[in-house]
Amino acid sequence: MAEVRDAALLLRRIPHGDTSLIIHLLTREHGRVALMARGARRASSPFRARLAPLCELRAAWRPGRTGMGTLTDVERGALWLPEARAWEGLKLLSLAEKLFREGDGAGFDDVRAALALMAARPRGPGLTAAAWLLLARQGWVGDLDACWQCGARADALAWRRDGLCCPACGAGLEVSPGLRRGMAGYLQSPRVALPQADARTWRRMVEDLLRQHGLGISLEED
Ligand SMILES: [Zn+2]
Repeated sequence: MAEVRDAALLLRRIPHGDTSLIIHLLTREHGRVALMARGARRASSPFRARLAPLCELRAAWRPGRTGMGTLTDVERGALWLPEARAWEGLKLLSLAEKLFREGDGAGFDDVRAALALMAARPRGPGLTAAAWLLLARQGWVGDLDACWQCGARADALAWRRDGLCCPACGAGLEVSPGLRRGMAGYLQSPRVALPQADARTWRRMVEDLLRQHGLGISLEED
């Protein structure tokens, strides 16, 4: 089969045998792809240093006739997040790893947009906003001005585990119009500041959404 080339992001690396790796890439045109990287754990392998997370890769592989394809070449491009932010970046990747399955064909542009958003915002709320953006792009997030249950537009909205709700649909943690404007602004512009209490509420909303969908990922730095 002809070799395939694509821009990619490394999602996972799993040791295989004595010297090889099975890698999971999120690629621009082919979605999530699992590949065998033969000998990639040998000190002499050029793959070793190039298969790094959080940077843009140019990967080439030969698709398998029946099973997994084989990595034939990889080059390392720009880093998408400064080294000092690696912890947050890897958190976002662990979320992406659970969101995008093989054969989905999507995810690369979403993760890249989320990492770019994070890179332009401070540690902490930057990760919350990036995770929110990633979930919004998968359709897990509703309108910030309306009840996610009945669709009614309302000033008074509260957060329940599964979303925003109006007083008629239920009670929960207050999410004021100011907080909702702050969230929308924060997603739009790196110049918008978010009060700490608002950032905490927002983080809790994201963690609730993740739990709701069976992805128990904490965004708090330990
Ligand atoms: Zn409602």
